[in-house]
Amino acid sequence: MRVHVVDHPLVSHKLTVLRDEATDSPTFRRLADELVTLLAYEATRGVRVEPHAIRTPVAATTGVRLSQPKPLVVPILRAGLGMLDGMVRLVPTAEVGFLGMIRDEQTLQASTYANRVPDDLSGRQVFLLDPMLATGGTLTAAIRFVIERGADDVTALCLIAAPEGIAAVTSAFGDDAPITLVAAGLDERLNDQGYIVPGLGDAGDRLYGVV
Ligand code: URA
Repeated sequence: MRVHVVDHPLVSHKLTVLRDEATDSPTFRRLADELVTLLAYEATRGVRVEPHAIRTPVAATTGVRLSQPKPLVVPILRAGLGMLDGMVRLVPTAEVGFLGMIRDEQTLQASTYANRVPDDLSGRQVFLLDPMLATGGTLTAAIRFVIERGADDVTALCLIAAPEGIAAVTSAFGDDAPITLVAAGLDERLNDQGYIVPGLGDAGDRLYGVV
């Protein structure tokens, strides 16, 4: 897996406020949204385009447009929903699927509870949205899900990644798999409850309140 941790002072600043336990949910949601748009700029560097002929008021010229099939953006419920608007703001013509995955807090294993993703993803570039790459169980299951349906290029956008999660995804798919991770921060480790340290706590709870 290619790993890209975005190195930019605005990203670091916004991430710091996001981490702060004193940041309330409305501010957290706005910052997550802004951060994702900054990450999306990096994550879409390899988005496929094709030549497109147009006429300006002055002359004919050839630019580019997104290739078919359009990229598919898939937020992983629940916390990934908080990243959707920030992503589609930059790629408004992308299609959107939804994948509900839940982590068993005892075994830390992920399973799928909802799926609104096309059955055939042949030749599709897929952008998975999940704020926290912790053990890697959820992201590994989500990547497997889209690759089994034919996706040939998968980019995961995460706000924070842990080394353990990166290692787990890499060991599941190998170094040469067409998978890229774009993150705003790479943290130290997981604690024994599977939370990222220093992290930001439970991203879903901070976005939407505790359920
Ligand atoms: N999921 C979260 O929301 N936070 C963590 O630190 C780890 C997994």
